[in-house]
Amino acid sequence: MSLSPTLVEPPLPADTTLPPTWHESLSQAIRDPELLIHKLGLSTDLIDAAREAASQFPLLVPLSFVARMRCGDPQDPLLKQVLPIGAELGQVPGFTLDAVGDSNSRRAPGLLHKYQGRALLVSTGACAVHCRYCFRRHYPYGDEPRRLEDWEPALAVLESDSSIHEVLLSGGDPLMLTDGRLGNLIERLASIPHLRRLRIHSRLPIVLPNRVTGTLTSLLTRSRLTPIMVVHANHPHEVVDDCEQALKTLVRSGITTLNQAVLLRGINDDLPTLIQLSERLIDVGVIPYYLHQLDQVQGTAHFEVDAQRGKALIAELRQQLPGYAVPRYVREDAGAKHKTPI
Ligand SMILES: *Cc1c(COP(=O)(O)O)cnc(C)c1O
Ligand code: SF4
Repeated sequence: MSLSPTLVEPPLPADTTLPPTWHESLSQAIRDPELLIHKLGLSTDLIDAAREAASQFPLLVPLSFVARMRCGDPQDPLLKQVLPIGAELGQVPGFTLDAVGDSNSRRAPGLLHKYQGRALLVSTGACAVHCRYCFRRHYPYGDEPRRLEDWEPALAVLESDSSIHEVLLSGGDPLMLTDGRLGNLIERLASIPHLRRLRIHSRLPIVLPNRVTGTLTSLLTRSRLTPIMVVHANHPHEVVDDCEQALKTLVRSGITTLNQAVLLRGINDDLPTLIQLSERLIDVGVIPYYLHQLDQVQGTAHFEVDAQRGKALIAELRQQLPGYAVPRYVREDAGAKHKTPI
């Protein structure tokens, strides 16, 4: 279309015509409990407890995730994953600071090696969302490497141990690294001959879908290492709109994409929700991998679902879904050589 010069209006500012970059979306994420509560039209009675709980583990949630919540519903399953509440502040016996034994499996700064053949790099402490049930909410991220040079001791262990074939990038969330830093790390890992696979554990494709760019997918597919993406969605309402598009982009670019979820009381501990979650995932090409029993980490006891109930739910799922759509229900036991099937 061509307009005659006399009809041309002043151009709009550039930033309103372009979709935000993931960095912009991250900087626009909600960090103030009061703002979240107002935005969703929730009772202001929630504010004081939210502020107090947020002082221990801050609120953080991107607008894209908030857009998938129902306004005015304090029981919304996405809201409950991110809104700080008073129940987090109580001490419950058995719920500790390092429930999964991370500190005993640290072989170098940032390197956890628990299982045969695969090792995990805590590639950053940052996340784009703060999940209230997070098993690493007390992890001492401040002690882990930041610059590429700081990774050398961990890379030296990987280089010297030819039993390791797969490296997991975890965190925090490894996709919080810029493409440049991620690319450098991947290149460095690809130079270690006995490594064959690179697995990325990230919640960003779910909560900050515009992180999935063509640059990212080509970084992953161009590498000598076979890429595997493990995303983290707990409820079918998460797997819609821009998130659905991001997952399809990953799948269509040839990256094996799996999902892990956590069984969470009042969020996904019912049969219809678990069925819908699996079906949403399968419909976009993502395979349900694990359903985790909650790790007993301080401040998360109110999310716990009894394992007997979890087993009953999985038994029902088996009757309703194809085998590939039923996640493995597992628990993490400190010191065990693999996740423990329940
Ligand atoms: C969960 C985990 C893995 C991955 O286990 P898989 O069963 O291969 O998915 C690897 N390393 C550590 C430290 C883990 O916690
Ligand atoms: S994205 Fe993962 S590591 Fe980050 S807060 Fe949520 S559960 Fe924890």
